[in-house]
Amino acid sequence: MKIAVIGAGIMGASTAYACAQRGHAVTIFDQYPPGHINGSSHGNSRIVRKAYPDPFYTEIMQEGYPLWQELQTQTNEQILFETGLVYFGKRKSQELQQVTESLRANGVTQSVFNWPDSPDISIQEDEIGYVTKEAGWVYASRAVQTLLSLSNATHIQEHIPTPEQLTSTFDRVIVCAGGWAKSLFNLPVTVTRQTFAYVRTAEPMEGMVWIDDTHPMLYGFPSEPERSAIKIGVHNLGDATDPNEPGSPNPEHLEMIRSCARTRFGIQNPILESPTTCVYTRTADEDFLWGESAPNVFWASPCSGHGFKFGPWIGERLADFAEGKMHPRDIPRFNLS
Ligand SMILES: Cc1cc2nc3c(=O)[nH]c(=O)nc-3n(C[C@H](O)[C@H](O)[C@H](O)COP(=O)(O)OP(=O)(O)OC[C@H]3O[C@@H](n4cnc5c(N)ncnc54)[C@H](O)[C@@H]3O)c2cc1C
Repeated sequence: MKIAVIGAGIMGASTAYACAQRGHAVTIFDQYPPGHINGSSHGNSRIVRKAYPDPFYTEIMQEGYPLWQELQTQTNEQILFETGLVYFGKRKSQELQQVTESLRANGVTQSVFNWPDSPDISIQEDEIGYVTKEAGWVYASRAVQTLLSLSNATHIQEHIPTPEQLTSTFDRVIVCAGGWAKSLFNLPVTVTRQTFAYVRTAEPMEGMVWIDDTHPMLYGFPSEPERSAIKIGVHNLGDATDPNEPGSPNPEHLEMIRSCARTRFGIQNPILESPTTCVYTRTADEDFLWGESAPNVFWASPCSGHGFKFGPWIGERLADFAEGKMHPRDIPRFNLS
């Protein structure tokens, strides 16, 4: 089949790859050139994990995580860094209870992380963490680039066809437009501006990726190879924005990052590098959305700030929709056809 994919972020790139693997001819359209830094998929790192408070997502990642390992075997560049994850917070946190139960229900090996287990991350006596080994981070921009080049898709930026031209030229059209999907499909989502930054360290800092469940929720990464800095982000506090002009990093959120560097990592005078914004396309319950908007035209909006890790799995499902092996309504929780 001739398949058009609109959007070359992680979802479009994964879809192009899955469709090409199945023998389809893929053309990918994006309003920006490959490697651009707009939308949601740019930058160096995204957490991949099976640890979720909702067993539904842990179950999906039981299928999705091996797809990253498989992709890693397709390239000499390192994409997947399996550092493990620690998900920590107050002992009485309901969300943490749900995380450990979700892991148990899905048979994912976990261990308990207690004060003062870690030499790097400082957690308090009234806090607890859960560690999973099947976790880490993916090099986001490399992953997108690798998927695009393995898909051999023709990439077109100029003269993006109209919907009528697309449906008359291609057998299937799949739209993965990130924050722009809101206006294309009138979706019940909010596009928000999120802030992250690197904090300089004396030397590269090894360790696990982490999620701090206490409010405000923060997350972070060990140092990237040969970089003396750790990346810390603020989850979900961003205000509504326009994906075309997301705005600059929120100063209050940068202060939260500094405060986290002090309390969790003992960095007394944190120096921030590369403060950056990126957009979340959020639903109220943080579930993903997808649907069929016209015959043979499918779209997906898997974000809410946690979609990247699902990219290869979403790509496979969108390829299933294109081939008629599955329909968006087969996973009703996401379906908005
Ligand atoms: C700061 C931050 C941290 C995150 N951390 C994590 C994490 O640790 N783990 C995790 O799993 N997820 C994480 N996420 C979420 C994840 O990055 C997103 O879910 C994912 O990148 C969404 O990808 P996408 O392909 O849907 O959107 P995008 O990457 O935005 O791609 C959409 C593409 O569509 C193109 N496009 C839009 N409209 C048109 C049009 N009309 N014509 C042509 N092209 C069009 C755009 O130019 C863009 O290239 C994070 C997100 C942010 C912002």
